[in-house]
Amino acid sequence: MLKLGVAGTGGIGYSSCLKKLSKLGLKAMEVEFTYGVKMSDAAARDIGSLAESLEISLSVHAPYYINLASKEPEKITDSRKRILDSCAKAHFLGATHVVFHAGFYQERDPDKVFKIIKAEVVELIKTIRQNKWKLRLAPETTGKRTQFGDIDELLRLRKETGCALCVDFAHLLARNGKLDYDEVFNKLKSLKHIHAHFSGIEFTAKGERKHLLTEKKDILVLAKHILRRNLDITIINESPDPLKDALKTKKVFSSLKR
Ligand SMILES: [Zn+2]
Repeated sequence: MLKLGVAGTGGIGYSSCLKKLSKLGLKAMEVEFTYGVKMSDAAARDIGSLAESLEISLSVHAPYYINLASKEPEKITDSRKRILDSCAKAHFLGATHVVFHAGFYQERDPDKVFKIIKAEVVELIKTIRQNKWKLRLAPETTGKRTQFGDIDELLRLRKETGCALCVDFAHLLARNGKLDYDEVFNKLKSLKHIHAHFSGIEFTAKGERKHLLTEKKDILVLAKHILRRNLDITIINESPDPLKDALKTKKVFSSLKR
């Protein structure tokens, strides 16, 4: 099934946003804890039950300041806490995925950083199981070459820990300077469901600079690949105007299905 949705509420509050999404036929929303997990358990429960009644799937984006491979131990401790706080709210929200940017290489060998992050993810998953939270950790493909999180690393992490992943197509483009959908979707073949982010993106040789509005021609290319493969995928739009661009995406898909 294809689910299209937005990152954040665009400042209108969760219940207005969910009702609006429902009216517009959008089926997903990512709750953004960008600068901290500031939501009560009761609010999370209310938002979760409204989303459920409107048949909108929720996911969570953990705060940006996360580095599970930091050279400073207290930063790792803080990162764990930010992820687990996000998971606790995700549980009350009934969210399926907790997305986060896992860490930075900081001039170290990527394989060494992989091992550090893997050990952290294993521990986080243990805690998630102990709490009986029904959600999956989804480290995201990142947009800068200095950040841990190319698609191969995340697929290896998934294989070795059982975590999920979030495929941000714009980040893949920014990171690699190109985006070959056939290559990407072939790598994702074993996934039953893909949790994805999409938007336009400005980038340099170093990678991501900022997210941009999503161009129709870019949506068309992605949509054709998805329809041809009949993928089960959730696409969260992360552009500066997620609602408008998610709707634009919906229109492109409907025009192709006809
Ligand atoms: Zn993203």
